[in-house]
Amino acid sequence: MALEQSGSTVTIGRRKPYTAIGIRRMKCSVAGCENRAEHQWNCCANDNLWMPLCLDHDIELNAKTLEWMGHPNATELSRDYAAALRQKRDTGI
Ligand SMILES: [Zn+2]
Repeated sequence: MALEQSGSTVTIGRRKPYTAIGIRRMKCSVAGCENRAEHQWNCCANDNLWMPLCLDHDIELNAKTLEWMGHPNATELSRDYAAALRQKRDTGI
């Protein structure tokens, strides 16, 4: 997890976005997940820090966000996004 500690404050993420190479050196920020990060999210409530995410948690976060928004095509968009990312991971295309 991309943790930094300053006094009693624990920070997850960093101010500058990770580079394409740099993100792959990080572990996912989700508690308990030991997967290598492939994506990153900038969360306003987390002091606008960029947080590394593994592929599966990026897919899950996108799906939950679309569902929360009540997007009329949440299911289809989430399915297509997950399929595209997994194909890219498995084939490199
Ligand atoms: Zn993860």
